[in-house]
Amino acid sequence: MARQTGFSEAFLEELRSARALQDFDTSQLDQEEGVILVACSDGDQFPELYRHLTLIQTGRWREQPRIHPVSLNGGPLRLVADSPANKPGRGTHLDVLESIADARSAKGIETVLLCGHAPCAHAGMREINFPSTLRLLLRAKEIVKGTFSWMRVAALLHVDHGDGRKRTYFVSRPELEECLTEHL
Ligand SMILES: [Zn+2]
Repeated sequence: MARQTGFSEAFLEELRSARALQDFDTSQLDQEEGVILVACSDGDQFPELYRHLTLIQTGRWREQPRIHPVSLNGGPLRLVADSPANKPGRGTHLDVLESIADARSAKGIETVLLCGHAPCAHAGMREINFPSTLRLLLRAKEIVKGTFSWMRVAALLHVDHGDGRKRTYFVSRPELEECLTEHL
């Protein structure tokens, strides 16, 4: 598994106790028309994330899953213009935003899931540590909400705990910001 600085079970536990990371409840977000999923394309993690979201959708919202992935290495970290996940000057963040807009127009989906994950190999390659991943995820949410104010946008974090457990958490901004100020 990829290594990522700052990623530890102790820190995850702290985030969970502070409710910065919460169990992703199926009722939290309207998925009746499906979702646009912005997630890292990591072939070891994406299938489990997709399977989990499929179960959530079909368990409550839809007979057939409708998940529209917008997927590059690093996922939502690519939405931030000056993110180290992007090469400077290429406008990758605009391409990802445009893909969300196009998916919304073409498919009529008004819900966006921004799913960061850890440990992320792309983030590791670009020397983005785990707290910075979380900060970039919050910025990505701000950008998407700022651009598509009428859409429902949620930030999630998919975690491979490394002992066979993989979980998807709902990210709660106020609690996370508080935790991150202690990890500057
Ligand atoms: Zn990744």
